[in-house]
Amino acid sequence: MKSSLKTRLVLAFLSTITVPILIAILTLYLGADQLSNGEDDQLDQLFSDVKKEIRMTEDELPDRNAFYNEIKPLLDQYDMNVTIYTEDRELIFDSKNYREVDEVNSFLPNFNTFTIQVQPETGIMWDVTIQANSSQNAPFQRMTHIVHILLLSVGMGLLTLILMIVIWTTYISRTVLTPLKHIYQATEEMREGNLDYPIVYKRKDEIGRFIEGFNVMRQHVKDSFKKQKQYEDSRKELIASISHDLRTPLSSIKGYVEGLRDGIVQNEEMKQRYLQVIHNKTEHLDHLIEDLFEFSKMEVDQLPIEKEVVNASVYFEKLITKHQFELRNQAVELTYTNVEEKPTSILLDPVRVEQVMSNLIDNAVRYGSDQINIKVHTNDLEGTIAITITDNGQGIRNEDIPYIFTSFYRGEKSRSTYSGGSGLGLSIVKYIVKAHGGDIHVESELGKGSSFIFTLPLYVKGSNSNIYE
Ligand code: ADP
Repeated sequence: MKSSLKTRLVLAFLSTITVPILIAILTLYLGADQLSNGEDDQLDQLFSDVKKEIRMTEDELPDRNAFYNEIKPLLDQYDMNVTIYTEDRELIFDSKNYREVDEVNSFLPNFNTFTIQVQPETGIMWDVTIQANSSQNAPFQRMTHIVHILLLSVGMGLLTLILMIVIWTTYISRTVLTPLKHIYQATEEMREGNLDYPIVYKRKDEIGRFIEGFNVMRQHVKDSFKKQKQYEDSRKELIASISHDLRTPLSSIKGYVEGLRDGIVQNEEMKQRYLQVIHNKTEHLDHLIEDLFEFSKMEVDQLPIEKEVVNASVYFEKLITKHQFELRNQAVELTYTNVEEKPTSILLDPVRVEQVMSNLIDNAVRYGSDQINIKVHTNDLEGTIAITITDNGQGIRNEDIPYIFTSFYRGEKSRSTYSGGSGLGLSIVKYIVKAHGGDIHVESELGKGSSFIFTLPLYVKGSNSNIYE
């Protein structure tokens, strides 16, 4: 039954009132039917017996005592009195006058009194009144039967009422009270910190919707607890990482600066080398601090994304040229190909997507082989543009792949070298790609290289935006 709780309650109230009434009426009807059928035959018999007896008498009834004695067996058989009147209401015979006083019961209601017309052997029509002396003998049990039928129908009505109350109480208790009990138990469990207590309720009624809401709320609380724990864990991790990652380059900068101050460096060439190391270390520090800053903004969902419509090939072409220039002094070959012939527009934040590309290219360089070869490739793919950055570097271990986009996760090499990053780069990359409605994944083979593939939705005409070149 898919009816709402309100409908079910209305149905319960209505049926609790109407069904017992109907049952009582039905019992009354069937009882009355049986009563009339049975008693009519018996009354017919009585009337014909009385008629037979009276018909054989004479008009005027000369010997009333003899008449009484004649009909006495009949009077006794039916336990009744017979009164005879002429048509002019003149009393001719009253059997009560011949009976003992205590044999006569005159208080019976008059529905046990019948009047028939009989013509004696000689003479004119008489009115013969037959009155029952008790309501215990047939055919005068009408009163008793009526009382029985009334009691039976009231009894049946009451019984049905009790039955309806029991049925509906059980039903309502099963469909309303039991789920409420479960909700109460669930809130108790939640209060004690157990958030893995789903309530199972299949109906789609008000309670079903409430339970659904409750389950969603429980899941929400559970998720936010989990998130909070993750935040706390990552915060702890962050503090540990910050102190470690900042201390390492700082202490080496300190060492080199002290060397310069104390005059350990003798010649100009050595001095330049020292300064170059200091420069590299400060750059590394700068990179780390930048990552941490971006990460903290990402954590509080405040990494601003300001999208514009750009021409994909123009944008990426320009971006790669810039990187090629930056990498000109390193043994890095960076190329870009776009397979699409027609121009493709995408909606993106040029600064953030540049950050994504820089991170991926930096990683390809950082985890690359001796002769680094990086290929950037773009193509349209089911309403998106897919950007693939392939390197010929060391590749990523299978067991690391599921975690590399997680904040602070660093592969073995990154962990063991000073030049290793913060472990935040790819999590920031993923955040930015997701914020653009795209996705990112990696395909990698250890020792051969990796391909990072991310997608960005193509621009659909009609959105409000500025055109970027
Ligand atoms: P990190 O600052 O350590 O580079 P990232 O989030 O950028 O942090 O990368 C996470 C880990 O993924 C790295 O520590 C490294 O092990 C692995 N990784 C990322 N890019 C590459 C790549 N191109 N080749 C091999 N390993 C990579």
